[in-house]
Amino acid sequence: MTECPACDAHVECATMVAGEIFPCTDCGTELEVVTTLPTAVQLAPKEAEDWGE
Ligand SMILES: [Zn+2]
Repeated sequence: MTECPACDAHVECATMVAGEIFPCTDCGTELEVVTTLPTAVQLAPKEAEDWGE
């Protein structure tokens, strides 16, 4: 478990693999798993992809 860099919420990423991108369950910010030993996440880079909210 680690903390969301955006909102400091605890995020569970025990089943994540390095490089995986997932949304914070609390604030929805996209996070990227940097490493799993120990678990560290960072804000995922903004993709050029447009989801058209
Ligand atoms: Zn968050």
